Amino acid sequence: MKFKLSLRVLLFGLGLLAVVGITGMNVYSLYALHESTISTSVDNQKNQITEFTFQTRNRFRSSLRGMRALDTAELQRLVAEGKEVPDSLLAIIKRVDEDPLFADIHFLGRDVDPCQAENSMLVYNSGSARMEVTKTYPEAVCDGINLARTRMKALIGEYQWNNRLIHDTERSMTVALINLEDHSIAGYLNILVNEDYLINEYLAPGLTNFGDTGESGMTLWLHDWTVNEVLATNDEKVEYSIKKVEQIQRFPDMLENWNIKIAFHENPIIAASRNSLLRNLIILGVAVLLLLGSLVFIYTTAQREQHLARRQAGFLANVTHELKTPLAVMQAAGENLADGRVTSPERLSSYGKHIFNESVRLRKMIEKLLDVAKNEAGHTILKLAPNRVDDLVKEYLRENESWIHEKGFKVSYTQDRELPLVMLDTDSFFTIISNLVENAIKYSKDDKYLGIEVRKNDKYVSVHVHDRGVGIPKSARKYVFDKFYRVENEFTSNTKGHGLGLSIVKNLVELNGGNVTLKSHEGTGSVFTVNFPVIVKSEFSSPSGNNLKEAARAEYVS
Ligand code: ADP
Repeated sequence: MKFKLSLRVLLFGLGLLAVVGITGMNVYSLYALHESTISTSVDNQKNQITEFTFQTRNRFRSSLRGMRALDTAELQRLVAEGKEVPDSLLAIIKRVDEDPLFADIHFLGRDVDPCQAENSMLVYNSGSARMEVTKTYPEAVCDGINLARTRMKALIGEYQWNNRLIHDTERSMTVALINLEDHSIAGYLNILVNEDYLINEYLAPGLTNFGDTGESGMTLWLHDWTVNEVLATNDEKVEYSIKKVEQIQRFPDMLENWNIKIAFHENPIIAASRNSLLRNLIILGVAVLLLLGSLVFIYTTAQREQHLARRQAGFLANVTHELKTPLAVMQAAGENLADGRVTSPERLSSYGKHIFNESVRLRKMIEKLLDVAKNEAGHTILKLAPNRVDDLVKEYLRENESWIHEKGFKVSYTQDRELPLVMLDTDSFFTIISNLVENAIKYSKDDKYLGIEVRKNDKYVSVHVHDRGVGIPKSARKYVFDKFYRVENEFTSNTKGHGLGLSIVKNLVELNGGNVTLKSHEGTGSVFTVNFPVIVKSEFSSPSGNNLKEAARAEYVS
């Protein structure tokens, strides 16, 4: 038995461990999946922004197609001779001029300090579609070419291509044209940038193309960090704050003063993943609860079955003993009487009393066992009839008061006035009340008090049986109506009983349409209450016209 119990506890523990383990693993994988969805999605978003900055760079270069094919040596020579720039370069300049991204185009023919009065520059005149000499040098042009010169000084020795593009922030870009024959500068083509177009016609629409915060899952700000100014955004509703920024994306080799600041939010993919995570967790939770519930259920039912089996075995031993004892007494008394050895009238009467008392005990026990057996088999016969509970209680007390008093009990009876009728089988009622009263008496020590109250409310007529006995411990209260259950304490084990009385009470009360409840305080007493439903008018007149008398005769087999 002990081995089985430890095995069960072990298996139960292992089962719990397995459930917890599997759940943990599942929750972990679900979270990992969600996290990876988030990081993939965020990586995608970052990649898209990087791609956008490269597209922007290409946008600047798109009008400069054909630079590589330019004969820079020839260009150098022509310009040195004071001739016009070659047509191939003019064609490129013309295309650049038509690009709304750009404004004025200047050309400086030598590697000299620009913007000096003696160093004349050429400027493109879109009217004549020619390069013309100018002595007006916009500051941005001078700065742009100077920047390119500085850069090229470091690069030119090693440089392998005939041109190099150098951006001066958002103001201009300069193409250094290199004569690869002697690694000298053939000239600088400076192109001023139309900042208004760049921001409002190119970058701003580019950002809004990603969709607003809700659609794209991110807020983007084109930000000039030198003056802390937002130049464009994909969502005007979200105010810029450096605290919100999670990622900064620069433009490659250009627009140094600007960058794209990004705040990530939950995008539809992440939201869907979160919802699915939540759904999965709920399903998992419910499944785990069901699993745990059934595990606990199986475990406790097995425990209960085992207890019941143990109680049943104890009961059988007990009952055999209980049946044998009165029989032995009766046998001995009968033997003595039969022998004719007992002649005195007092002894004859004493033997007679013994036989009578023991046979009453025996009958009661057999009746109890029969009650249980009938109940189990569903053979309890009820003769339901309208009854007044107070009449039945009074009848019971009339018949039993003497032995109750003999036991030293003070009986207190109270009742409400004008009690309604209840539909009741009187035999059941007497069994119920006698079990409750006998228990009240059995389980009382010195304070021998028996209180019976009959009360009414809208629904029930209730009989309360009070005692001031040992009471029932809280942990035992839900089991006392179980078959064969007896509270495990010294007082109960010294009191005769089989744990059947209350189970019979419960069954009979329920068969009569009522219910039974218990209030108890350990050490101060208990109150058992049986509630019988009040007859409603329709029960008196069934559709077939049955009247009160017919109802009284009705017999039910449960
Ligand atoms: P038993 O034959 O043991 O009295 P019952 O089914 O009538 O069987 O009662 C079940 C158990 O409930 C009892 O063994 C006893 O421990 C407890 N019990 C029942 N009635 C009372 C009571 N009035 N006061 C205290 N304990 C009680």
